[in-house]
Amino acid sequence: MSALFPTYARWNITPVKGIGSKLIDADGKEYLDFISGIAVCNLGHCHPKVVSAVEEQMKKIWHVSNLFQIEGQEQVAKHLVDHSVGDYVFFCNSGAEANEAAIKLARKSTGKHHIVSLTNSFHGRTLGSMAATGQDKIHQGFGPLLTEFSYIEMNDTHALKNAVTDKTAAIMVEVIQGEGGIRLMSEEYAEALKAICDQFGCLLIIDEVQTGIGRTGTAFAYEQLALSPDIITVAKGLGNGFPVGALIGKEHLKEAFSPGSHGSTFGGNPLAMAAAQAVLTEVFNPKLLKSVQENGEWFKLELEQKLGKYSIVEEIRGKGLMLGVACQMEVAPIIKDCMEKGLLVLPAGPKVLRILPPLVATKNELERASEILVTVFQKLEQKQSVNI
Ligand SMILES: *Cc1c(COP(=O)(O)O)cnc(C)c1O
Repeated sequence: MSALFPTYARWNITPVKGIGSKLIDADGKEYLDFISGIAVCNLGHCHPKVVSAVEEQMKKIWHVSNLFQIEGQEQVAKHLVDHSVGDYVFFCNSGAEANEAAIKLARKSTGKHHIVSLTNSFHGRTLGSMAATGQDKIHQGFGPLLTEFSYIEMNDTHALKNAVTDKTAAIMVEVIQGEGGIRLMSEEYAEALKAICDQFGCLLIIDEVQTGIGRTGTAFAYEQLALSPDIITVAKGLGNGFPVGALIGKEHLKEAFSPGSHGSTFGGNPLAMAAAQAVLTEVFNPKLLKSVQENGEWFKLELEQKLGKYSIVEEIRGKGLMLGVACQMEVAPIIKDCMEKGLLVLPAGPKVLRILPPLVATKNELERASEILVTVFQKLEQKQSVNI
């Protein structure tokens, strides 16, 4: 009998060890882990540089309050602003907390409350980030929600123009919706976002919790649409498994986050910063980002060629190593078959298979994953045609 609240429908696998792209369970079975803790372990499990950075820090000092100067925060913040359009960083411990901070900062800096977000978005489970999340099933039973959120369909510029007014504090978006089904924002929509933010003076908040830290082949995904967000939120990949989140904001927001306005006990503690510093040094290396672009393009093409021909496959989409296989059926049984064959992938909504390999996955590992997927889809396709 488990003493845990049943908030998760868990799979019957108990991972006990991880090395790079490999995960080993309690029965000694080996898996190719193309979930990466949901875009968290971007450098693979137990990356030696991250392990040694945290080990070293562990022997020096674990935690001090934000009443003190914390050298690691200065370094990680510098890294983040050097690789983004932002100027200042606030550290927290998760994606939801980063988005919570973003909502508070948007309200305080503009003096307005209305926030526009997108249907099928996911921003987290706290009251604020849940309200920003445009999915009814996430809200169910937790009302009344934080008010003054409007939800509009992504890539519908007409809806965007109708939703934003001079009372709008911010528009909050993911440039690739992760939980929502690996849905990509169009270039035309990105242009419309820029124009409407300029017109009404509202802030652009980009949630890069899943897409950021190299996942899509650039430091942040917004770069590929030439957007210039006022606020960027990150978490998942930032600590490669060490819990840490951050909000990156532009210069003009500095006053609103004045002393005493916001805070977090654990946010940016020295252990988290040691992990993040090691991660960013690796991930923001142009060589690694280039390999994510190249391997991502190769892998996507491979999946298009090998899986595209099956009638149950609708589309292969995504950027870098954040890929989705949109299917004409529920993907739960596909995921189970892959698992049996030693490949871990996850759903993004009921009908999209989400593939998030570690950014350091080798060509060989990508090939092996593709072979397993082909075997699984082939078998399913045969079953389907028998059924017809
Ligand atoms: C996972 C995720 C979050 C929530 O992050 P937590 O660390 O679970 O709070 C927010 N936004 C996006 C886009 C995510 O993928």
